[in-house]
Amino acid sequence: DALANQIAAGEVVERPASCVKELVENSLDAGATEIRVSLEEGGIAAMVVQDNGHGMDPDDAVLAFARHATSKVRSARDLFKIATLGFRGEALASIAAVARVRLETRPRGSESGIVVQVEGSRQTAPPAPVGMPEGTRIEVRDLFFNTPARLKYLRSVTTEQARCLEVVQKAALARPDVAFVLETNGHVMFQSGGRGNLLEVAAAVFGAGEARQMLSVEGATPDYRIHGLIGRPTQARASRAHAHLFINDRPIRNYALHQAVMAGFGARLMTKRHPMYVLYLQMDPALVDVNIHPHKAEVRFSEERDVARVVQDAVQRALDEAFL
Ligand code: ADP
Ligand code: MG
Repeated sequence: DALANQIAAGEVVERPASCVKELVENSLDAGATEIRVSLEEGGIAAMVVQDNGHGMDPDDAVLAFARHATSKVRSARDLFKIATLGFRGEALASIAAVARVRLETRPRGSESGIVVQVEGSRQTAPPAPVGMPEGTRIEVRDLFFNTPARLKYLRSVTTEQARCLEVVQKAALARPDVAFVLETNGHVMFQSGGRGNLLEVAAAVFGAGEARQMLSVEGATPDYRIHGLIGRPTQARASRAHAHLFINDRPIRNYALHQAVMAGFGARLMTKRHPMYVLYLQMDPALVDVNIHPHKAEVRFSEERDVARVVQDAVQRALDEAFL
């Protein structure tokens, strides 16, 4: 029912950026190699996420808006080794509860697409065929049109837009093999080539000058692999905003691992400074639990000290090699 949906939506959709994050994750889960995000008024007035992923069959396109409709977790056992970013089946239902959504999708190999329109959890028109390229296009208009209290809580267009940019940049760093474009009111604000080249993506995110100075990190133990880039001590910042950590291609936040990076820098880092980094950890999904928060950013490790050790050692080694 509509009210329950609105309440639950608060968990998933706080602001345009959380919407962008969910839609982009769905595109990635659909195997997209090109994802275009377009914003009007920081995403508050409208956002469009278009991908070239595998699309949805007409039945699935309608079902996608039902709460707990997920095509991704088939059994309780699956939950322990989730490879997809989404698994709760809540995002589309939540977004559609608090916005006007137009979903167009065309599965690979199908002759045409289908359009489904939902406003505040209600379908406003019967699903109809539509001409479109293969993939999925989701348009979200008038976010929070039916929940004025939440609309009031949003910040300025500039701030909301900046948060959307952060989300897209993080996704681009997570997946250098996927081409991302972010445009705002028709202007390209960010673009990544999708050629799988980390340095190239780092240049797009941090600027070419910064990226060129960064140091390469590599490390492995039987259970963990780490690679990526760290900024030099002189590139350290006053905030953690340029610290990016990914586990099995998923952006995460984990204070212990941020501390481990800092420990790897040791005395090379000035106090109150945070290093720039883009680090990727690969590990057996059984050793990490991503299921502790709806935003799925916080993780827990079964062997946190081992993970921290791998991170610290790899960072320290990269710095030792650069400054011997
Ligand atoms: P979840 O991602 O947790 O499964 P969502 O509410 O985000 O739940 O999406 C519901 C379902 O809609 C997904 O399981 C997927 O089958 C389908 N879906 C959503 N977005 C896309 C997309 N861009 N391409 C293909 N399928 C999609
Ligand atoms: Mg999802």
